[in-house]
Amino acid sequence: MKTALEWKQYYSSPEFRENYIYDNNDLGGICTDKGTSFKLWSPSADSVTLNLYREGSGGSAYASAPMTRENRGVWRWSTEEKLHGVYYDFQIDMEGQSVRCADPWAKACGVNGRRSMAVDLRRTDPEGWDRDCPPEKRQEQIIYELHVKEFSWDASGGFPKEYRGKYKAFTCADTTLYNDGLHPTGLKYLKDLGITHVQIMPAYDYGSVNEEGSPEEFNWGYDPVNYNVPEGSYSTDPAHGEVRIREMKEMIQSLHQQGFRVIMDVVYNHTYSLDSWFQRSAPWYFYRVFDDGRISNGSACGNDVASEREMCASYILESVLYWTEEYHIDGFRFDLMGLLDVELMNRIRRALDERYGKGEKLMFGEPWAADETAMEKGAVPALKKNIGLLDENIGMFCDDTRDAVKGSALKIWKPGFINGARGKEEAIARSVEAWCEKEPGECFGVKAPSQVITYVSAHDNQTLWDKLSETLPDTDTAERMRLNRMAAALYMTCQGTLFFLSGEEFARTKGGLEDSYNAPIGINRIDWEKAWENRSLVEYYQGLIGLRSRLPGLCDKSRQAPGRIRDIRKKDGAVSFTVDNYSPSGESTWKTLKIVYNSTKEEQTVSVEGEGWVVLCNGENSRLWRERHFIKNQAKVSPQSVLILGQIPCAS
Ligand code: CA
Repeated sequence: MKTALEWKQYYSSPEFRENYIYDNNDLGGICTDKGTSFKLWSPSADSVTLNLYREGSGGSAYASAPMTRENRGVWRWSTEEKLHGVYYDFQIDMEGQSVRCADPWAKACGVNGRRSMAVDLRRTDPEGWDRDCPPEKRQEQIIYELHVKEFSWDASGGFPKEYRGKYKAFTCADTTLYNDGLHPTGLKYLKDLGITHVQIMPAYDYGSVNEEGSPEEFNWGYDPVNYNVPEGSYSTDPAHGEVRIREMKEMIQSLHQQGFRVIMDVVYNHTYSLDSWFQRSAPWYFYRVFDDGRISNGSACGNDVASEREMCASYILESVLYWTEEYHIDGFRFDLMGLLDVELMNRIRRALDERYGKGEKLMFGEPWAADETAMEKGAVPALKKNIGLLDENIGMFCDDTRDAVKGSALKIWKPGFINGARGKEEAIARSVEAWCEKEPGECFGVKAPSQVITYVSAHDNQTLWDKLSETLPDTDTAERMRLNRMAAALYMTCQGTLFFLSGEEFARTKGGLEDSYNAPIGINRIDWEKAWENRSLVEYYQGLIGLRSRLPGLCDKSRQAPGRIRDIRKKDGAVSFTVDNYSPSGESTWKTLKIVYNSTKEEQTVSVEGEGWVVLCNGENSRLWRERHFIKNQAKVSPQSVLILGQIPCAS
């Protein structure tokens, strides 16, 4: 067998690139009324045999057929038979060895994804799926990060027992706390909260949970096995390949019906194991290798997918388009986007824009990598420093805002602006403008707030509450609550697209744990009881979210948006500014905003000029905007709080 480096050199050769790049979008098992065809791209195979099975695991093949070699490294076998529900894999002979391989392009699979399944996708559509569409796009997009199992696992959620931890739980629109009929949980709770997008943590088929194992098994799922198949452990029947597909569609359909758009978390940067279907069918084509033969591991998960290679780029692009077409997904969060290349990201953006309209599908990712990667020469990684090369509608998680507000996510003892760090005023001021470039070359080249995800918590690192507890061990709950409210009011008055981890709004804790990817479900599950215990914090978030969507000056995602932020003033522990809140539609309730962040323990005073100023939100109450609370000349800003003032148009 060739070494990794020899394969890499072969794939880079003109001979290979001229003869083996296949650009039709018909690989995999395709099953319709007219029959079934199987196509596998395996350019170096000497022969390929297709095996057909009645079951998704165990037993032996009931039929086998040699596949025919076609042009460009493709192997084909087809029949007029409708093989919906038939499982299959390939036996590939290559360089004197024979390997069994499932289909990298599979749309369905058996339990644990070890065998692929032929599927007539129309037979997996739930009732009414052809009429399914996302709710209207709203002025602001507020993303709520959620894990399928965490959402409904706890008995407090009031979900039917057989649906807990499953896609099916999302089809329950009216759950309440322990079924008390009074306190909404689940989707009704999220609706009341006001978020617009639900971001589902990995829900394609991943490898770290045994689908036949204990229901207690838990993992975040950042370890893909079959990119184009839903994860089986979230279905009520992982052994029958069509069930997980239908149930995931039911989840999305229900989320749409309840008024949410759905974002999928995609992990194209690495696979569960290097011994993948990619590797078995085309050794080392889909992975990066350094010139000295070392295996690239910029993901810190053992391998890096070579997004810049032609067939790999097409694979990723087609996979994204498949999820939008077949599952009606409304946006994508790219895990370790810094390991993917700029050209591919922009190509995906263009393809989505052409099909669905400019910017209609959200696209954003983590603009970093865990380590150095062996990207082919000429390709440019989609890292933060290259944000200026990415399309205006590709966003990045902004660690600068996150760390400025609450302190470093990685150095857990380090505080930020709200919890006692000095000298963060400039970073906070930049956060307000989503770090948009004012002079060429400054601030890593952010073009517009559309490129920035503004957030202070995500599944990675400590929860916001745990971070506050970590950095302020001597404070009481009342002070932590005050700082939590301050953090929320601060980032929700910054430009950019808003994002938060499920439960941030009810002081979610993981007991200080920084990385809970495989911690027990008992630590990771959403505690709906807590969501009601900390009701006043939830209501503070509700008020802020409601207010934000009425502030066109902060929702603006255009290149002109930062120009709306004026008169920024900084002093020790405090930042204030005004916002031009003009709306092109003319429907702005307040023409100007004045916002003060006071992280000091002393009361501050802010003065305003002109008439018609009202308090929209203070450190205690984020719903003051619903009535008119007039002030004249000046207002007080309580210690450790945010004050938001608005000026009514007709009054001056
Ligand atoms: Ca799985």
